[in-house]
Amino acid sequence: MRASELGINDIGIAVDTGPVPPDDRIDALTEAAYRRALEHAEGSVADYIPILAAVDPEGFGICVADVNGGVHEVGDTRLTFSIQSISKAFVYALLCDTVGHEAVFDMVGVNNTGLAFNSVVAIELNDGHPMNPMVNAGALATTALMPGGGAAEKWDAVRTGLSRFAGRELRVDEEVYRSEAATNHRNRAIAQLLESYGRIQTDPLDVVDVYTKQCALLVDAHDLAVMASTLADGGVNPVTGEKVVSAEVCRDTLAVMAASGLYERSGEWLFEIGLPGKSGVAGGLITVAPGKVGIGAYAPRLDSAGNSVRGQVATAYLSRALGLNIFASDSHFSGRTNE
Ligand code: GLN
Repeated sequence: MRASELGINDIGIAVDTGPVPPDDRIDALTEAAYRRALEHAEGSVADYIPILAAVDPEGFGICVADVNGGVHEVGDTRLTFSIQSISKAFVYALLCDTVGHEAVFDMVGVNNTGLAFNSVVAIELNDGHPMNPMVNAGALATTALMPGGGAAEKWDAVRTGLSRFAGRELRVDEEVYRSEAATNHRNRAIAQLLESYGRIQTDPLDVVDVYTKQCALLVDAHDLAVMASTLADGGVNPVTGEKVVSAEVCRDTLAVMAASGLYERSGEWLFEIGLPGKSGVAGGLITVAPGKVGIGAYAPRLDSAGNSVRGQVATAYLSRALGLNIFASDSHFSGRTNE
């Protein structure tokens, strides 16, 4: 059921969050997370986008940005890489902020496919529905719905919107863009399949081009942490103070990330880490602890679903050590009875 059917649209947002630990404690735990994850050399770098295979597999940085504007970083946090699928979460947030999430609900959906991020079978199994904005089908449908009559306006809305999340002007890695544009036949097929089902109502190849550019935007782990902390802070960038999207949009985006942010591994991720996250094939990973922190990680060796191995290890440690898991509670029983 959706919010309108549940009759909860007029109920304001309720916030119940604990304080973040002092700065020196976050610094120490970020360092400890880095050291633990450094021991993991398993996984392999993505190579289906040819240029990504040339990356240094040892690059590794982890950054925690808290909602008070504090930034805690260890390792290669200023090493840039393409944002790839992590862009999907932010474009979805921008779209929901512009047109409202009810409007996006039907065209894009919010349910997990249980299948790989670029699955064509998932589209067919669901009668042409893209299912959720975190897989390529849903991300293409999302980008297609961005405001603007043509590809240039949509691209401008995407680039400037993601830059506001990061708090700096983001630019495209032209080499990554060209490498993916020359080889993204599958994404073109997905977009054309969606067009055939009426799920994309603008030129599908233009949509793929904007999507490919959005995936090639250059970020570092520090940027990712700031972007994630904006989603943790009700849509206000805690470093620049700019309101980027509404608190309601953050809530909705985090729910979708929790359900599908790590593709077919989203259940495992939620079970172990207990936080909304989103990964990208270049090795980036964001995690959001609502009301507390955003975590940005970069390490290009991936598991078989396309999620950064060191990023997951470091984030798992931080979730436990900083007490971030949204499902964890302690007993507050004080002897009060209902009589
Ligand atoms: N640009 C990549 C693609 O469309 C993004 C995928 C990802 O990061 N999982 O295949």
